[in-house]
Amino acid sequence: MTDTAVTETKNSETKKTDAKKPLPRPAPESVPYWEAAREHRLVIQRCNACGKFWFPPSRSCPHCLAADFAWTPVSGTGKVFSFVTFHRVYHPAFAKEVPYVVALVELAEGPRLLTNIVGIKPEVVTCDMPVKVVFDDVEPGVSVPKFAPLDAATKS
Ligand code: ZN
Repeated sequence: MTDTAVTETKNSETKKTDAKKPLPRPAPESVPYWEAAREHRLVIQRCNACGKFWFPPSRSCPHCLAADFAWTPVSGTGKVFSFVTFHRVYHPAFAKEVPYVVALVELAEGPRLLTNIVGIKPEVVTCDMPVKVVFDDVEPGVSVPKFAPLDAATKS
């Protein structure tokens, strides 16, 4: 009897809980990236010594190892370098989103970002497709940079 009651309680709790997506938990070196994203700005690090951009964030330039850099606004345009379409639900919060596209987008400035392609059916996403950043306000104070087809992003 007791066991049954416990089981029922657990089940009802599971049903009541709406699974939430895991939120970004920035490492110290990526805090400026997420603060800019909150303001719908895409910034990445640019080396003051060699002038190259890089991503993901790190404390020194991966090209010349200088630790002198500036967080620099970028165009937000790029192209799909590679992508996969997820059909399986790996986290309950993503159940309503399958199928969705996880992609490496190569920015016009060079670096590649791991992101989602949105605003387009997954089956028509192609490599080299021009895309532009859009910001998904997942909750107050947290916006995630994603990418949409350049045409659609320009229209909206
Ligand atoms: Zn450098």
